[in-house]
Amino acid sequence: MKITKATSSRIGHVDFENLVFGTEFSDHMLISNYQNGAWEEPEIRPYGPLSFTPAFHTLHYGQALFEGQKAYYMDDGRIGIFRPEMNAKRLNHSAERMFMPEFPEEWFTEGLKALVKLDREWVPKAEGHSLYLRPFMFGSSEFVAARPSEEFVFCIICSPVGPYYAGDVKVKIEETYTRATSGGVGSTKSAGNYGGAFYATDQAKKQGYTQVIWTDHRNHELIEESGTMNVAFVINDTFITPPLSDRILAGVTRDSILTLLRDNGLLKVEERPVSVEEVIVAAKEGTLKEAFGMGTAAVVSPISVIGYRGTDFKVPVPEEGYAMKIKRELTNIRMGKEKDRYGWMTIV
Ligand SMILES: *Cc1c(COP(=O)(O)O)cnc(C)c1O
Repeated sequence: MKITKATSSRIGHVDFENLVFGTEFSDHMLISNYQNGAWEEPEIRPYGPLSFTPAFHTLHYGQALFEGQKAYYMDDGRIGIFRPEMNAKRLNHSAERMFMPEFPEEWFTEGLKALVKLDREWVPKAEGHSLYLRPFMFGSSEFVAARPSEEFVFCIICSPVGPYYAGDVKVKIEETYTRATSGGVGSTKSAGNYGGAFYATDQAKKQGYTQVIWTDHRNHELIEESGTMNVAFVINDTFITPPLSDRILAGVTRDSILTLLRDNGLLKVEERPVSVEEVIVAAKEGTLKEAFGMGTAAVVSPISVIGYRGTDFKVPVPEEGYAMKIKRELTNIRMGKEKDRYGWMTIV
């Protein structure tokens, strides 16, 4: 792999104590171009602007997708990337559905490793901090005819991040807008899924909520996701999360939590359709013990209020609850405090 190093580092200008998620970028990036039906071998070069013309395909037709995962500074000084092969596979799942070329999985993981190795000083050492890795791909042909792009760019950038604290998360059960429909692109990490969600989220914010709980597009009776996270409920002693479908993003955090729970016996586990009604009834009756989102940025994000048709239902957020226990177990594996019994960490 060709590597062109930056002549000087910007790291001295970064305030690692006060990182704002996704706003600082490391010295290097990885890039590969798809031309004449094939990907060129990726190269690493200094982080910097890309240039494009006004007829740049992705600006018009949105063949664009991304991934997100993290590299951690472990207790023994090694640096580990969490389950990168899952992201490589998911990127290609998104690519297939968005009619974009698959990117070789080996180049994805080897590229990530090489990039993190080169920018290892950027992996924050403080507890709960990490280096967020953002692979992305977009159509780069220059034409405005409404047909698929013929050229593409794959790129990875890295951003040091602190512990994600979402505060008191108040969610609104969304019954007007929809994130995903059957047969649509909800199971992909395509850029437009986010673009289409901002308006609904802003409407919810104006009503005093932090985020929306997406429900099914047909009748808004089934719970699907919480904002940009998968969602789980603890009702009595059972962990319940909606099953994967073409409307739900297959989160790596969700999969990891399910794996841990099926092994540690902390809770019974059910992957099945979750109705709005049962969650509201459980909240009323006090059997809803906890509710939380699951995703790379926050790991788990406890929900304190569920708003439904104008009524707010309180959800307990115990300091030593299940969400926090699960988060600690995952964090311990990532930090190397606990044995990596699933082989989740890829050491760079
Ligand atoms: C990325 C994403 C998630 C979480 O996936 P992780 O791999 O756990 O980060 C969940 N839902 C949506 C809609 C997403 O885009």
